[in-house]
Amino acid sequence: MSSLLHYVRHIVPGAFRATISMLAPTPSACLTCSRTYRESRSQAQGGLDDSIVFQRLCPECRSSIPWITRIACRVCGRPGPCGDCKRRLDSAFVCNRSAVSYDEAIRGWLALYKYRGHEALGQLLGEMLHAAYVRMYSELAQRQANFRFDAAIPVPLSDARLLERGFNQAEQLATAVAVRNQLPLVRALRRTRHSDKQSYKTRGARLSSTRNLFAAEEAALRPLVGLLNDEAVIMNRALRLLIVDDIYTTGSTVDACARAILDTMQRDYPGIHTEIYVLTLARS
Ligand SMILES: [Zn+2]
Ligand SMILES: [Zn+2]
Repeated sequence: MSSLLHYVRHIVPGAFRATISMLAPTPSACLTCSRTYRESRSQAQGGLDDSIVFQRLCPECRSSIPWITRIACRVCGRPGPCGDCKRRLDSAFVCNRSAVSYDEAIRGWLALYKYRGHEALGQLLGEMLHAAYVRMYSELAQRQANFRFDAAIPVPLSDARLLERGFNQAEQLATAVAVRNQLPLVRALRRTRHSDKQSYKTRGARLSSTRNLFAAEEAALRPLVGLLNDEAVIMNRALRLLIVDDIYTTGSTVDACARAILDTMQRDYPGIHTEIYVLTLARS
């Protein structure tokens, strides 16, 4: 067979098929529900339209994401009426913002990610948190000129849980946000003891069990103070730190984290005003 004939008979139809399949949407399996769907670019509500990982969700899963787009409590970012923040008058953090409500779907996604180490899902959750970061940042920048965060700080796991799980989900989420926004990721917190699973506790037990659960890493805070350049010191600008966690329930965990950092900063650097902000993936 001449090479031209071979080309026409074998290569061309293959190339033709490849072209056709590039034009027609290919069926893919959804990242979270595993259903097969055909790719179509739908409008996302959370600003994730261009995210490649977001396109790996089927249209149903995409549209079921319970984005928090409207908040009622300016402190904790709750979409409905809030009693927690009224009760907690001495909140150690300025405000929390969360990407989504903690519903059944998100609970399932987080479980797949945390307990099965589903890596692609981790990327998706990182994208979702980044979308919440962008919204939070623009809200704060509207209120305050020259607003910026100086570092992202993950809520640490206990050593026992880190060993059991192999990774800290809060640190992976914080890394996703830090990398996209050129923020230093600083491990400025450690757990002082292993706490029991928060999810099994009543609200009151949860609030008291987090007291003194965290301590600040002085060695990690020192370079952060160095980050405040002379201009910031002259302008009396605050050191602004962003604590990152996966779930916000009563706020007692992140409040204990913020309290540990504030206490250490006030003791070691009384001249520096520190503001702690919180970004979480989901809130109940
Ligand atoms: Zn799906
Ligand atoms: Zn609140």
